[in-house]
Amino acid sequence: MPFGRRHEVGIVVDGTASSDIDQSRIKSISEVIDDAPLLDANTLAVLTFAASYYQHPIGEVIVGTLPKRLREGAPAEDIVQMVRLTEQAQPDDPTLARAPRQKAIVSRLNGADGPLPVAQLKSLHRSVPAALRRLEQRGWLTRYEQRAGGARDFRHDNVAKGPELSDAQASALAAINASSNFQTFVLNGVTGSGKTEVYLRAIEHVLKAGRQALVLVPEIALTPQLVTRFERRFAAPIVALHSGLNQTERASAWRDARAGRAAVVIGTRSAVFTPLHTPGIVVVDEEHDGSFKQQEGFRYHARDVAVYLARRHDIPIVMGSATPTLESLHNVAAGRYKALELPERVGPGTDPHLQLVDLREESIENGLSATLVNAMRRHVDEGAQVMLFLNRRGYAPAWFCSGCGAIARCTDCDANMTYHHRHGALRCHHCGSARKAPETCNECGATHKPVGQGTERIEALLAELFPRARVARMDRDSTRRRGALATTLNRMRKGQIDILVGTQMLTKGHHFPGVAMVGVLNADHGLFSADFRADERLAQTLVQVCGRAGRGDRAGEVLIQTSFPEHPLFAELINGGYAAFAQRAMQTRREASWPPFAHVALLRARSTRENTGLAALSNLRNALGPLPGVTVLGPADAPMRFRAARFHSQLLLQSGDRRQLANALFRLRAQINDLTRNNRVRISIDVDPVDLY
Ligand code: ADP
Ligand code: ZN
Repeated sequence: MPFGRRHEVGIVVDGTASSDIDQSRIKSISEVIDDAPLLDANTLAVLTFAASYYQHPIGEVIVGTLPKRLREGAPAEDIVQMVRLTEQAQPDDPTLARAPRQKAIVSRLNGADGPLPVAQLKSLHRSVPAALRRLEQRGWLTRYEQRAGGARDFRHDNVAKGPELSDAQASALAAINASSNFQTFVLNGVTGSGKTEVYLRAIEHVLKAGRQALVLVPEIALTPQLVTRFERRFAAPIVALHSGLNQTERASAWRDARAGRAAVVIGTRSAVFTPLHTPGIVVVDEEHDGSFKQQEGFRYHARDVAVYLARRHDIPIVMGSATPTLESLHNVAAGRYKALELPERVGPGTDPHLQLVDLREESIENGLSATLVNAMRRHVDEGAQVMLFLNRRGYAPAWFCSGCGAIARCTDCDANMTYHHRHGALRCHHCGSARKAPETCNECGATHKPVGQGTERIEALLAELFPRARVARMDRDSTRRRGALATTLNRMRKGQIDILVGTQMLTKGHHFPGVAMVGVLNADHGLFSADFRADERLAQTLVQVCGRAGRGDRAGEVLIQTSFPEHPLFAELINGGYAAFAQRAMQTRREASWPPFAHVALLRARSTRENTGLAALSNLRNALGPLPGVTVLGPADAPMRFRAARFHSQLLLQSGDRRQLANALFRLRAQINDLTRNNRVRISIDVDPVDLY
């Protein structure tokens, strides 16, 4: 489209027969890129639903979810340049001896016994384009264009054999296979109970019917084993959408999914917007994982969008977890979702033994209690692997002056700077700002010292405590380099690491049979948080990290260090597992009218000026007048008021009725646009927020 003085690529989502705008001012479309719609009706419906549900402009939603190449105007189907020899071509012509470059092309085409894509000739030598031109002039060769593999060509009956299913797996699978229409299943299975095996079988069933499968996972880089397992099982084209793809590969994966050439599409949250030709099933693995929620811009929840997608296509969706969210459990209780239970581990491995270490009774040095160190020593001496979980990266969370007691603060946030030893730097984990760590205090001249523990410090400490053990670390810092994460995962799997210390990354669905013990260095963060989801997240993290122990033939042992061993959450997890926790937490949520017993939306304001955001939210609230069925809480300062050099405040909307909440938000959107046009404040809407800051 002509757009001002430029040309822009646009997407037509609708049409109209009449317009109030003067005919002479309406411009024509310059060029139509695709002859068939880029997005089929179902995909467009999913995008439209998500835009309206999450209160985000449809244009940004569509454009934001398209691969870059297509956004820039590449066609929905790739055009491939083909060449073939003509009747005149003489492969044995003696003159070719003097034109070796032409000869190479002619013999390749002759040998191929048919046309070939130009791209496939490129590897012959560097002057392929010139040689092709010359052959064309001789009349030996013609070129033409063709759509890249239009037809669906995967074989879906080629499946490697899996293990004999357990009874629980078999009945879960039977329930999924029996439902050819829309139905949401919650596959609630303890870690190692064989959930992935159930996905594989259900997908096999779907592939045999000639349909595609969409698999959403939290992070592909963290679970490369999963993709490998799919590739080993199915001799069908599998497309993995991960961050390592370049733009060309991304576009081609998207095209394969859309054209039905890809049998299985595996990807992280944004893969839910990939158009599918004939989907037969959707799988959401580890549905409790926070990464399914996009936290900025278009704030959608991929799991919930996936449910809409399945409904739209009228196909089953399976969401699996050892620690299902209270939302999903509530939907099961309400009869909307169907629970499938896998209560026991399959294959080798037993449920690990869970034990608390009371930090008030133990002398604890640098974050490690004697009980923990002794247990580690026992396992390491026996040749088993140990994992230590600490959700804090860096060397120390505080950089402290030993003279005057001053603590290094971030200038742009209400937060302390974290000390990173390897780079001698202070970094803010909230805004990313960094500076060199000063050796001495600006104020009093005394020396600084690190206080508290991060993973980097624990790693160094372990190297001293266990001089003969191979110690490694897995967190965002240690895996920044390309390939570093894969290397660590590989070494861990091969038993080349004795002790692995890491953050949240450790909790993801890894299967390391050599791990006999897991230590949680500090479970207390989250026990007394103001965020209503904090205890759910903590319980999930603990259960998930514990699930890494005892997956092999050794019995697993889990030690959790805490200063609050009497907290009910621990007793629940130890005595009744996640289900016991969930039952009590559900009660608390019901009493407080928090989700899943109410729907909430959070309006966040941010501004460079103090109080501007608060004032804007107050105005907004007043301008709206009464909102039927909706409770408005605030405005108030955000839990972290000053972050990334902006002041943050928020307004919470709560309602028992989703439609009333949506209506209120729709009215708010118009007001927000008016308000922010001439004000130095940005306001965003977060529907079903997972974090309340
Ligand atoms: P989850 O996804 O619940 O963590 P997996 O499907 O990854 O569990 O299974 C854990 C391990 O047990 C894997 O190594 C898998 O190959 C194996 N496994 C799964 N189902 C069976 C079965 N029925 N019999 C034997 N081994 C199985
Ligand atoms: Zn900061």
